[in-house]
Amino acid sequence: MAEGDGWEGGDSAVSTVDAMLVMNGDVVTMDTQRRILTEATIAVANGSIVAIGHADDLRARFPQADVLDATACMVIPGLINAHQHATVDPLVRSMIPDDISSTEAIFRWLMPLHEQADGDDDELAATLTAVDCLTRGVTTLLEPGTTAHPLRVAAGLSAVGIRARVGCWGWDAEGMPFAAPAAETIARQEETVKKLPRSALVTGWVTLVGHDLVSDELFTGASELATRLDTGLTWHMSPHGADAAAYLKRCGQRPIVHLDRLGVLGPRLVLGHAVHIDDDELEAIVRTGTAVASCPGAYLRLGQEYGRFGRHGELVRRGGRIALGCDSHNAGDVPDVLHAAYLLTALEHDRGDSGALRAGEALAIATIDGARAVGMSDQIGSIEVGKAADLVVLDTSGPGWVPRGEPTKHLVWGGASTSVRDVLVDGRVVVRDREVQNVDATELRQEAATRSAMLRSRARIEVPHIWPEVAIVSHRDRRAR
Ligand SMILES: [Zn+2]
Repeated sequence: MAEGDGWEGGDSAVSTVDAMLVMNGDVVTMDTQRRILTEATIAVANGSIVAIGHADDLRARFPQADVLDATACMVIPGLINAHQHATVDPLVRSMIPDDISSTEAIFRWLMPLHEQADGDDDELAATLTAVDCLTRGVTTLLEPGTTAHPLRVAAGLSAVGIRARVGCWGWDAEGMPFAAPAAETIARQEETVKKLPRSALVTGWVTLVGHDLVSDELFTGASELATRLDTGLTWHMSPHGADAAAYLKRCGQRPIVHLDRLGVLGPRLVLGHAVHIDDDELEAIVRTGTAVASCPGAYLRLGQEYGRFGRHGELVRRGGRIALGCDSHNAGDVPDVLHAAYLLTALEHDRGDSGALRAGEALAIATIDGARAVGMSDQIGSIEVGKAADLVVLDTSGPGWVPRGEPTKHLVWGGASTSVRDVLVDGRVVVRDREVQNVDATELRQEAATRSAMLRSRARIEVPHIWPEVAIVSHRDRRAR
């Protein structure tokens, strides 16, 4: 804080037992001036940031508050993951071969598993996803439309304490599992949104699978539903060239031009991917204020040619709304938004263009701009008085921080997510000293191993062994045989 600045958030003494002081950290606020407040203390009460100032002043004002010492730490806003599948993949992470096409991965591997997954599997997968996200500083996730048991998914996410938006599986393509006619699919979406309380951390969105697996009737019905329920909506489009080919064949227009003509683009919509887009599609995205969730890890892992076709840096330059996503545990693999920021920035730098995306811009996409893209920037995305206390404390005492560099570069290029020590969501400490607080990690590990094996067995999926696994046996055991 510049010398002479007082503290923000009023000055009356507050007596509350539900208060916490995050003390003496260097706070990367992501406010409009992008201020970094050195050795600042953040006062949290009733889920919100109520003051930011000097430790002595805030201790006097909140005498009963718990203290989370953030000395020698950096404090950043909770990271936003705007495209994170939370079912099935977490139970088969790193098991799907990486030498097959994404179509084969989805239809030969994932769909048989989804068909066999029950509510217990979905809740467990969501729990694993939330743990994986929170321990990497991701405090908000948006599930992009592959939840057959959305209330169980919401239960799993809520129990760990992450903020999330969840919908019901949405497509009406013939012969697909979980598919239903447009009207029935819309009714399911409405039911999900209405059953999840609006005041909770995990609330409902309208979520379609998208691609060329959704009829025009379903796209328009879903869009109208989101407006009527005053919620957001999301679907996948054009991570690869196949969607454009399918739309050109079906209706003679590229997908996003077609969606524009249907009238379903707009600020409520988060399009997952939009990588293979032409000038007209780019223009439509910017003009309508449609948001895009960029998942660079998935594009690299699946060979989707972002370097040739992707234009997310250009979208940023043209005032587009962009968030980062990490897709799934077999496509991008790690729900690590700072790593996604690294990858997107690196891909844009690789063009050799002097106007490439900079680390500070990528950090904004990971936080405040990502919050804006998912329509939540009034609540989250920056550390400011009045916002929800979604905070990430990074321990910067380790060797990866010596000497500590310029914060935006160090956070994006420096592998910072490995330093996440404590995480607050809505004022509650959900990760402390690198341990998630609301689940038993040992039990979770055992349940994941058991349920993963059972699920693969039911789906008749066998994971190929690439290299031989050799059990080492002792001399005594060998003699006993
Ligand atoms: Zn996806």
